[in-house]
Amino acid sequence: MPKILFIQPSQYGPDGKPLKQKLINLPGLVFPLLAALTPPHWEVEMKLEVVDEIDLETDAELIGIGTMGYAMFRGMELADEFRKRGKTVVMGGYMASMTVSEALKHVDSVLVGDAEISYPLMLQDFERTGKLQPVYDHPLDKLEGLPVPRYELLTSKPIGNMLPVQAGRGCPNSCSFCSVACIYKGRYIFRPVAEVIRDIKAVRDLGFKRFYLIDDNLVSNEKYLLELVKEIEPLKMKWGTQCALKIGDKTQLLKQLVRSGAQIMSFGIESITQGGLDKLNKSWLRVDDHERLIANITRAGIMVSSEMIIGLDSDTEASIRATYDFINKSRIPIPRFYILTPTPGTELYDEFKAAGRLVTEDWKLYDGSTAVFKPENMSPQRLTELFWELYQRVFSLRCILRRTLFHPAARKSPLMHLYAFMVNLHYRRYVYKRVPPNIL
Ligand code: SF4
Repeated sequence: MPKILFIQPSQYGPDGKPLKQKLINLPGLVFPLLAALTPPHWEVEMKLEVVDEIDLETDAELIGIGTMGYAMFRGMELADEFRKRGKTVVMGGYMASMTVSEALKHVDSVLVGDAEISYPLMLQDFERTGKLQPVYDHPLDKLEGLPVPRYELLTSKPIGNMLPVQAGRGCPNSCSFCSVACIYKGRYIFRPVAEVIRDIKAVRDLGFKRFYLIDDNLVSNEKYLLELVKEIEPLKMKWGTQCALKIGDKTQLLKQLVRSGAQIMSFGIESITQGGLDKLNKSWLRVDDHERLIANITRAGIMVSSEMIIGLDSDTEASIRATYDFINKSRIPIPRFYILTPTPGTELYDEFKAAGRLVTEDWKLYDGSTAVFKPENMSPQRLTELFWELYQRVFSLRCILRRTLFHPAARKSPLMHLYAFMVNLHYRRYVYKRVPPNIL
């Protein structure tokens, strides 16, 4: 029986070793989905390096490596090791899809973008000839008929209390730094509501009361979202997702989301400077609206988690310090920051490269916590210092308590705010190790 080993590498910590955790709060969906697409005569094993050890002497003939963000660099190192041992190695995921020629220095083949057509073709080639094409690139134009992901591959790992479900892929927007925009180029493909509900029921049948819709911007199709939440409501489950902050202006929709069990959402707020948002091609978000929209979402009963980018051309030392005031004032329970990173493959990378603004092309430094370009208003080193200063101030115990256990909304939802408090303590430990917390 042929065997494929799926590996989700971890990212490197400050000591140069792959980071480890005791638990994955939000596991990914890609490998359980690929496992469900694997013909039954194949054996499938999955390792998530953040909680599992990777056995380089595996008996699998084929190794499939995921490239989630900065973990791609560890993935390349693993790929080299496996190839030294005679294994055939394939990479897929956003990062490999955007940097195909770089990935091909380390692997036999890259699956670009959607894998539902490419992956079975790749397996067939491997079985028939033992050889792979360097690139399999077969974008989907519909997302119908996907199998139920093999969730048991996740439930056998130390994970939190949620499983992932996907309603669609892509985003209609085209923010210049975004890998989703880079791959889907303004497209958003939705799955049939009945199939999404089937997967949510599969999650429920495994004993889970919570799920996470891993879509990138579910609010972009309000009609679809309404149809979906109408079907989710009777399931009596709790859920979260990520979407655009402008949902804060949609009072009725928010009410329906909360009625269906929505509890927490993550928003790309990005910046407190309008110039920064404009530069990211995100002018549809207005900084003057941030606080009001956050307050509306919170008032509706949904906890806000946020992502922001530090080091935009509009950023000064003063605006980075003011970002602390913004978080403190708006009491975002779970905030995260990254230094602007011109990821290869994005518009932003092309622009910075052409302008001679990249200070290094050592990809290991493209980790979201190191300035790898010349900022407009300070040196790269100063930007990195200010980033960590911001993180340390935002993750002081006083600030954490103020935005979690002492948040006015904690009276209504004490357990959620206790959860946010615990997440913040977990992030705080990361910050003190100089590792930017991420959504895992
Ligand atoms: S709205 Fe979010 S997902 Fe969509 S392109 Fe912008 S950053 Fe990417």
